[in-house]
Amino acid sequence: MQLSSTVIRSAGWRQAVVAVSLATYFVLALDFCYAGSPGRDSKKTANETYLFPTDASHQINSGFADYRETHFHGGIDISTNGRIGYPVYAAKSGYVYRVSVSPYGYGKMILLRHDDSTFTLYGHLSEFSKKIQKLVETARKKEKKYGVRLRFQSGEIPVRRGEIIARTGATGIGGPHLHFEIHGKNYSYIDPLIYKSVDVTGYRTPRIFNVAVREFNSGLTEVSSVSGRDGECRSNEEFHLNEPFYFIVHAADSYGRENFKRPPKYITLKIDGRDFISLNLTRIATDDYLDINSLVDFELSRGSKTYYILCVNRAIPFSVFTPGAPLSGLVGRNFTNGIHTYEITVKDEDGNEATATGKFVLGLPGSSTRTNGSMAADPAVPLPFSERTISPSPALSVQFPANCFTRNIDVSVHQQSPDSFQIEPAGEPLRKKLKVTWKVNDAGLLLFRKLRYGWSHIPYSNDGKVLTAEVGFRTGEFALLRDNVPPIVDRIRVSRKNPFYRSVAPNEFNRVFVYFRVSDKLSGINTDDILLKVGSKEYLCEYDVDKHAAMCRVDAGLLRRQRRITVVVADNAGNERTVVSKVKFR
Ligand SMILES: [Zn+2]
Repeated sequence: MQLSSTVIRSAGWRQAVVAVSLATYFVLALDFCYAGSPGRDSKKTANETYLFPTDASHQINSGFADYRETHFHGGIDISTNGRIGYPVYAAKSGYVYRVSVSPYGYGKMILLRHDDSTFTLYGHLSEFSKKIQKLVETARKKEKKYGVRLRFQSGEIPVRRGEIIARTGATGIGGPHLHFEIHGKNYSYIDPLIYKSVDVTGYRTPRIFNVAVREFNSGLTEVSSVSGRDGECRSNEEFHLNEPFYFIVHAADSYGRENFKRPPKYITLKIDGRDFISLNLTRIATDDYLDINSLVDFELSRGSKTYYILCVNRAIPFSVFTPGAPLSGLVGRNFTNGIHTYEITVKDEDGNEATATGKFVLGLPGSSTRTNGSMAADPAVPLPFSERTISPSPALSVQFPANCFTRNIDVSVHQQSPDSFQIEPAGEPLRKKLKVTWKVNDAGLLLFRKLRYGWSHIPYSNDGKVLTAEVGFRTGEFALLRDNVPPIVDRIRVSRKNPFYRSVAPNEFNRVFVYFRVSDKLSGINTDDILLKVGSKEYLCEYDVDKHAAMCRVDAGLLRRQRRITVVVADNAGNERTVVSKVKFR
């Protein structure tokens, strides 16, 4: 790996010469990688040659399909040792398809489209390659805002496998790391670790802690703890059941020394020696990306102990299961009274597996409700959450699309005052956005969602008569509020080095970092327009949501001549703050 990167980095006239022998270099590089990695005995079979996108490390901080509040983690987080500035390599040849810049989410992001129509995505970058950076700056000047989204056609920015497209960073949410995704032809999410060439250190055998069953109609649960050594273990008690039921398993996987808290990638359930249902979390269809909560049993799960439901949600087909039809996984009809055996196997990408076995007894002794071959209570027909609109007052209406929840719930909207409403039950994750329409007669009112730490601004359109907004994420409390207070800007400072993160990249341009903390109580900073003026030169600052600070790289020579700096920051309600400051710089 090191070898190939060295080759590519030596740009200019040598590149043409080197390109001829590139194929040979990569074979060598991969061999080198395997020799030093614990994945040596890997049982992986996916041979696609995606190059590992960084030399920073082969350790991952977060795996594919890890639990996020409302979605699956769509890629892997590769550790960059708490630093920024490592080269990021194109994992395959193709072209730059999308580039986006935002203080939130992925931060600075590149999406490549490859020759075989698959995609790779690289997130939280600190810098783009010079060519991409130039296009980003042009777009920024044109749109006069920091956040931009660019789309390209094939042929505009071609990339070769191994080419440096960016440097790792800490933009968007979270500290320094590289977020890396692989997508199939239809943009389905694919676990990068299924590929032999994308190898990480520290695979451990997954564990099964508990096996539980839940009766489908009554919701009653029985939990049996699992004992035995890594690999093979048994449930301690047998389940006695008289109703259709499904299995729930508390199992987890781990990379490196961390605690077992990640989902195992494969879970299979066999009953009486035959495949009954299996879960594969290495490929997630685009449409299923927000469905993580239909996989988790929240009544049993606590903290990082997650119980996975081995039954497909009755409203939503779910492609991670085989068979994937609603209600598969339900043990009911077609099973005879008496003793049955089950076997649950969990497995990681590298082939390490653990198995738990146990028994269940159908038909309680002396019970007459169950006859052989059919359950007393047949499972109800699937209950999709059907589309509805709820209007708690003539001014307000909330539109709920079909199956916007992962389960069928009794949803209601309460309006406590003319300026606020609550969607009950609160905290319910949303698979689809709700549409809020509110007659407000005041263009100065903004829409907010209540979060633990305060109010969060929701983008909306408000023509002074009707406010419309799309609400995603979760149900809860919403309110109309007015914001008249401009942001607060702390002391403006100057530094030779990046003030927030240690960087391994050289500071090529003789630039100086100007930075300051900036905060706003209600509507939040307008991160697209944090303006810094030095003399007649204007810069758009980068905003770091984790540090609550704005930062800008300024030409050192200019700062020596002009020591007066002007900062203009506005909040999302349009309240503006201007600060003029003299900085010392030698
Ligand atoms: Zn990530």
